Amino acid sequence: MKPLSLYVHIPFCIAKCGYCDFNSYALDTLLEKGHADEDWARRYADALMEETKNRIEEYSLEGREVATIFFGGGTPSLFPAEETRRVLDLLAAFFDLAPDCEITLEANPGAAEAERFGALREAGVNRISIGVQTFDDEALKRLDRVHTGDDAGRAFRSAREAGFTNVSLDLMFGIPHQTIDMAERDIGRALDLGPEHLSAYELTIEPGTAFHARQTRGELNGLPDEDTALRMWELRDSALNDAGYERYEISNFARPGFVCRHNLNYWRRGDYLGLGAGAHSLIEGERFWNHARPDVYAQSASDPTANSECVDDPQKALGEALMLGLRIKEGVSLAHIKQECGADPEDAFGELISELENSGLVARENGRLRLSDKGTLLANQVLAKFL
Ligand code: SF4
Repeated sequence: MKPLSLYVHIPFCIAKCGYCDFNSYALDTLLEKGHADEDWARRYADALMEETKNRIEEYSLEGREVATIFFGGGTPSLFPAEETRRVLDLLAAFFDLAPDCEITLEANPGAAEAERFGALREAGVNRISIGVQTFDDEALKRLDRVHTGDDAGRAFRSAREAGFTNVSLDLMFGIPHQTIDMAERDIGRALDLGPEHLSAYELTIEPGTAFHARQTRGELNGLPDEDTALRMWELRDSALNDAGYERYEISNFARPGFVCRHNLNYWRRGDYLGLGAGAHSLIEGERFWNHARPDVYAQSASDPTANSECVDDPQKALGEALMLGLRIKEGVSLAHIKQECGADPEDAFGELISELENSGLVARENGRLRLSDKGTLLANQVLAKFL
């Protein structure tokens, strides 16, 4: 039986950031439009619990071992800790949580949210991932973030005081008007805090976002050029490497023993059950996803599936396994995915793999295929070829 991870989506935010293409909603906007009411948190937690019970029955998941749980968003730290506890208690009652189950919650650095850390730790959350993005207050404003750089430091210290010994920070590069010096200062301030894990990724302008609309109108200025962005990548890699963090995925770094096991399960194409508005699941070759708007999801919690597809077609499954597995530094075992997907990757992608090897973008070692350093810099283009 493949390992099972649980993802719980909490789609509520204080405000919508201009670059964000996640399924997230400013709470005030939902309230104004009548898509939520004062009782929004309890209603949403009730819906999560109803969905959980139904999915367990539908996919015969009761008693299945769960190695990781991830509360993502949105802003899960905005959700009242007592509601998170209710959901966690239900998950613990129906699944067999591994003794070392990694239970992560994403948090934004607002002070009010940091105060909840103690209650979350008591509820069983054992890993906090704080969305810092940058410590520069002007850059934070340009991203529409509703916190300051100092808030991020305070949130980190609150997490430590609450007893969290596994804390991750998210940093962003390529923010409009960000210079190499600014990026360097961000890395330095993050390292001063001493997190166990860092995600450091580049801003991408996604269709459907406010940033994309501004870019289309020619109003999004100051994005770093390719050379500056590349220099930021190099700076990030060398600073984090020197500080004892290992890059284990394109944008993720960890001290020994602190990789994010939840995300590793995605990249290894393990099974995961996604609960909540817009959440995606992959269970034994079937992918399904839920209605996106929180009130629509909550009203249909007994069957919130918006759509589903079978991904057990060997060619498709192999393409996915390669695209995901190549994100990890260790790469992907060709023998393993042959067994998992029921088809030989050499038959389906042999020509493409040879072409990428000849271009120095991937390397093969001991039956594993991985991105080279050059391939890592061009990861988006390389991985898209397997779709
Ligand atoms: S806080 Fe996070 S999820 Fe919410 S809008 Fe901003 S980037 Fe998106």
